[in-house]
Amino acid sequence: MPLPPPAYFTAGLDADPELAAAIDGELSRQRDGIELIASENIVSRCVLAAQGSVLTNKTVEGAAFARYYGGAEYADAIEALAIARATRLFGCRFANVQPHSGSNANAGVFLGLLKLGDAILSMNVAAGGHISHGHPATLTGRDYAIAHYGVNRASEMIDLDEVRDLARAARPKMIVAGGSAYPRAIDFAGLRAIADETGALLLVDMAHFAGLVACGLYPHPFPHAHVVTTTTYKSLRGARGGMVLWNDESLSKRINAGIFPGVQGSVMLHAVAGKAACLHEALQPDFRAYNEAVLANARALAATLPAQGLRIVTGGTDLGLMLVDLTPTGVTGDIAAKALEKAGLAVNKNMIPFDPRPPEAPSGLRLSSNAGTTRGFGVSEFERIADWIARILRDPSDMQAINTAREEVLALCRAFPIY
Ligand SMILES: *Cc1c(COP(=O)(O)O)cnc(C)c1O
Repeated sequence: MPLPPPAYFTAGLDADPELAAAIDGELSRQRDGIELIASENIVSRCVLAAQGSVLTNKTVEGAAFARYYGGAEYADAIEALAIARATRLFGCRFANVQPHSGSNANAGVFLGLLKLGDAILSMNVAAGGHISHGHPATLTGRDYAIAHYGVNRASEMIDLDEVRDLARAARPKMIVAGGSAYPRAIDFAGLRAIADETGALLLVDMAHFAGLVACGLYPHPFPHAHVVTTTTYKSLRGARGGMVLWNDESLSKRINAGIFPGVQGSVMLHAVAGKAACLHEALQPDFRAYNEAVLANARALAATLPAQGLRIVTGGTDLGLMLVDLTPTGVTGDIAAKALEKAGLAVNKNMIPFDPRPPEAPSGLRLSSNAGTTRGFGVSEFERIADWIARILRDPSDMQAINTAREEVLALCRAFPIY
């Protein structure tokens, strides 16, 4: 007697009310709140469908058209599509679209191109760098000799003279540029000159500005970078995961082997399909209009907050994200973030450069226009966001002010519905 299929096999999430309730709760949270966290965005139905597809069932290992498992005909087609779109979008020759995350993309590149104990020069997390670039709490921090550059105390921007001095001292095999809280354009040509002088490869991690690069609205890492890594779910507005891009064929074998089998096993094919989907969207003309709006909105937010007594680190921004120094308000980042969340404004606390305060209660907040712009907000909506932030930070314990803002935030969200 064949077993009848259990009901949950066809019922979808209805079969699991406990899980369904939590997912519904998250949908409501996204619909009814304003997302200002820079590592997030709002993806299309197409990206959602690709990631929730039957590709979940398929296991493949190795490169497209050179798999260790059979039945890979469509898997190969999907991965080839993602690669073709990635190389077209960023004007480069090679791509690896398999990294499960941005951190894995970086770890795989290090593993493939460096030897244990080699020196890496990357940006300090305290100055806006990312932990996957050699923070002591990660494997990359244990396996390589990490030296860090920061930012100039006066300009709060990368100082190429400092980077050059550190590179001459540390003799890195790799210099890493790009971070998670650095709001300015980076001089990739200048960094490449330093890399050439000291015999290092230049890796640019463009997770927070990949979308702008794709549209010519931020300096392009190529041809200066030897290798570029990115996440695909922040400014690229797509699948959760990462990518590696490069031009020099002599690096291909080592980069690909660094990702698989270096730091990963089989491919998350559903995520690769989600990457193919978002890369297709990024190749459409309206993606440029979106990114122009991301910039205009971020600049509006950065221009409006100082009038309310807040300081913008570096005085502005060249991408969708900015760092706000709360010192003039006397409120710390942790308390500010909690109060803003009660009003439906999702932000994260963040250290500012040379922060005298600890990471748990830092002096700053990081804000981004990425997700709000996706739901259709323009400059006037971001000016209202600045106003809510300022009103709440005047007294984060004033529940009446928070509740009033919450009602207004909700009304704005309802006027710009998602899903
Ligand atoms: C977000 C981010 C990453 C890490 O991405 P995960 O997918 O969380 O591993 C790496 N580098 C930079 C610069 C990032 O902003």
